[in-house]
Amino acid sequence: MVTVSEGEAIRQSSLRHQWMHSRDWTKMAEEDDPLVMVEGKGVRVTDSSGKSWIDVNGGYVSVNVGYGRQEIVDAAYEQMTKVNYFPMGTTTVPVIQLAEKLAQLTPGSLSRVFQVSGGSEANESALKITRAYYRRVGEPDRFKIVSRKASYHGTTGGVLWLGDSDGVRGRTDFEPAIPGMLYAPQPNPYHCEFGGRTPSECAVLCAEATEKLIQFHDPRNVAAIIGEPVASPRAVSVPGDEYWPMIREICDKYGILLIADEVVTGFGRTGKMFAIDHWGVVPDIMSVAKGIVSSYLPVAATIVKKEVADYFGGPGNQMFHALTYGGHPVAAAAALKNIEIIENEGLVKNSAEVGAYFKGSLEELMEKHPIIGDVRGLGLLIGVELVSNRATRAAFSTDERIAERLSKKFRNRGLILFAGDHGLTLGPPLCITRSEIDEIVTALDESIGELEGELDMKR
Ligand code: PLP
Repeated sequence: MVTVSEGEAIRQSSLRHQWMHSRDWTKMAEEDDPLVMVEGKGVRVTDSSGKSWIDVNGGYVSVNVGYGRQEIVDAAYEQMTKVNYFPMGTTTVPVIQLAEKLAQLTPGSLSRVFQVSGGSEANESALKITRAYYRRVGEPDRFKIVSRKASYHGTTGGVLWLGDSDGVRGRTDFEPAIPGMLYAPQPNPYHCEFGGRTPSECAVLCAEATEKLIQFHDPRNVAAIIGEPVASPRAVSVPGDEYWPMIREICDKYGILLIADEVVTGFGRTGKMFAIDHWGVVPDIMSVAKGIVSSYLPVAATIVKKEVADYFGGPGNQMFHALTYGGHPVAAAAALKNIEIIENEGLVKNSAEVGAYFKGSLEELMEKHPIIGDVRGLGLLIGVELVSNRATRAAFSTDERIAERLSKKFRNRGLILFAGDHGLTLGPPLCITRSEIDEIVTALDESIGELEGELDMKR
């Protein structure tokens, strides 16, 4: 443990030199932030002052097996002592084994694995593979990519223009957009853009609207549809059962590739190994990150169907797309051990069972808190939507600073959990227990009650 003065010195150094992602150093300085974490075990982390916290979202909904797994540390250490990297043009045992493991776990003929370092890179690679694929099959005009509103696929130069999880806020600094980005509706039954009254109605209407969008933009120019099978932004969106099978059919009808972004949802998060497995749909390309290694090291992958990947073999077909840390053996060894833990400890099943318990407890909170408009999710990816008026389902105005006020209340109760303008996205480690969930729910109950008191909201 660091001493109090060491802890304060390191925090001051962070404020002077570190450019933390998505945080404002001026505001952090005013609020005694940032917390500097020094230890973690399971769902809990300890900061430099010795205070313990529950990390409700396990990092960025990414620490699937929880903090402090010595087996993963040992696997990485062992690989590092053997060979820490690879000479150009060669490969290593764990990278091959990870590729084979991913081919086994993923559905259908997904079997060719391009290893990278993070989710944005995995999606960038998916887009490049898609466009390069259509050149190889003789349809170079296919360049348009359909993504969905209220979704997120990363922040690097290309994928930044997919989805719109932050609305325009996250993108205005970086205009102009790259051409060919089309935006389909998000099948969120609580806010169906087309007035669907049930998840099924909404699913069908949104899938039909997606087809119309493609027709309008000329299907011969459309290369891919990319989507998170269960979207995590804006307090989670679970589509009705018709949606993904219909989207698959639309892709097949027009010769468009389907890219499943399983960066958040992969490796048990939604109670299946991959979220797309809930609907038995096989994508052409799948992006995985986060849970593949529970954030112990940077590793991610773009997994491609054999029928697509085969176009990249043979003279003149190689794709020139390489990343120094793609195929890192130490990260691959950690990922293999992480997947072994997920399988051996039955964490996918735990996610389904404990997730249902968590969702049930949140639905009970909804009975007493009118600010909760909706609770939804699958497994341990759960959204709680906050509304100013249940009848109209209206969000709060940003002037109310609901997100900031609620996040502070969570923090006062020992939770690391940031509320968003639309509510909460909850994604704890998959090893979480019912009693840890009870602790979280109690803190949510108190925090939300306190906020309702301030807003004078009564049942
Ligand atoms: N795709 C989804 C669905 C994500 O949630 C994220 C990150 O949160 C990304 C892609 C980008 O991943 P990364 O932050 O590792 O680049």
